[in-house]
Amino acid sequence: MSESARPRPAAGGRFARQTDQARAVAEKYAQQTDAAAEFPVAVLDELRAGGLLGLMVPTEYGGLGGTLDELLDVSIALGRTDLSAALIFAMHCQQVACVVTHAAPPLAEELLPQIAAGRMYLASVTTEPGKGGHLLTAGAQLSAEEGRSGHLELDRFAPIVTGGAYADGFLISMRAPEAPSADAVSLVFARRDQLEITASGEWDPLGMRASHSVALRLTGSIPGHQVVGEHGEFRAVVLQTLGPLAHLGWSACWLGTAAGALSRVLRMLRESARGKDGKDGRLESELLLSRLSRARQRLDTVHALLRHTAAVVTAAAEGGTDVSLPRNQLLINSLKLTASEECHRAVEDLIDAVGLRHGYLRNSPTRLEKALRDLRSAPLNYSNDRLHQADGVLALLDAGVSFA
Ligand SMILES: Cc1cc2nc3c(=O)[nH]c(=O)nc-3n(C[C@H](O)[C@H](O)[C@H](O)COP(=O)(O)OP(=O)(O)OC[C@H]3O[C@@H](n4cnc5c(N)ncnc54)[C@H](O)[C@@H]3O)c2cc1C
Repeated sequence: MSESARPRPAAGGRFARQTDQARAVAEKYAQQTDAAAEFPVAVLDELRAGGLLGLMVPTEYGGLGGTLDELLDVSIALGRTDLSAALIFAMHCQQVACVVTHAAPPLAEELLPQIAAGRMYLASVTTEPGKGGHLLTAGAQLSAEEGRSGHLELDRFAPIVTGGAYADGFLISMRAPEAPSADAVSLVFARRDQLEITASGEWDPLGMRASHSVALRLTGSIPGHQVVGEHGEFRAVVLQTLGPLAHLGWSACWLGTAAGALSRVLRMLRESARGKDGKDGRLESELLLSRLSRARQRLDTVHALLRHTAAVVTAAAEGGTDVSLPRNQLLINSLKLTASEECHRAVEDLIDAVGLRHGYLRNSPTRLEKALRDLRSAPLNYSNDRLHQADGVLALLDAGVSFA
């Protein structure tokens, strides 16, 4: 492995050892799982064994009791190596945060120790045919199971479920039982062994290939207490927890991937200059320097916005402010919009900076080609068009233009 391709240690912190181990496994398998569009089973095994699946589980349940900033640190570090592995981890942690914050005691007490012990990898089911990514409506409805008091039946088609073939459990959004309209949405937990799972179609995308985000049909019956939050009140879970953590977690993963790409390019350029006694003419090119500068500027902008948004969301969780205020939701959406565009553009800058051989060929140690393919999914993963439309409405609600 060349110097520029070798993973560097994570940025320190309480979970640096576990993170470095997971990164090393991700590094080992990234090329193979990308080529074959395979889920990185070995990375998941390492996340289980190292305790990182329980990062967001409070210590009283046996978890690591990580903070939001620690979740972002681990996501950035994994993203530097492989965006699919990072997204698998960050999305699981979003699901865990929903359980921690919104599940009533019987479900929380059942689930959280299993997550902490690495036995419960959670997948997310919100997208649905007909409504696409729209979170606050649902087509398929939960119904009371005949002859089994307190049980709910579900029959749900899920067109895209990251890690769905390997998950131990699912958080699934569905129309609340007996709700007359599509906007009364419930979130329920279902264990894999409570469901019949039928996979359909083939997973063969441009990028994010190792996320193995397959289409599944889920049918089965669950006890009534497996609802997360109140029936019909998924909106509260989205506003308070799922939305903020999704945008923060995804953005951290994207930032990590763009930062990893920049780092590999910079190391390659420095090594190449060293090999020529520091006389590599490319490093004097004004065009190259300004492209490197622009890429770095984009990443510093995303990083500042990421940490500021995390501070606002943390303050809200501690009771300092209401996260659902328009100015807070606008900030959270702005992070997703900015990160999804700027991280992708930074990699494009780098491709222009280093040219065809190290920017476009698949076997270059810079791995820019893979970073570009993976990051192209960012504006699509909850469509930016959809977010801009929501932000237009939120902007009208904040005529004074206050800032979070
Ligand atoms: C790598 C990856 C992993 C994913 N993993 C999961 C997962 O585990 N679980 C899950 O449930 N989902 C997952 N998703 C799906 C994701 O969260 C989005 O819901 C999904 O990508 C949106 O699907 P869509 O673009 O087909 O639909 P839509 O969101 O409906 O968008 C389709 C297009 O229509 C336009 N559009 C639609 N509605 C509007 C509107 N109101 N205003 C303006 N324009 C609009 C947009 O231009 C958009 O490009 C994943 C997506 C990706 C890329």
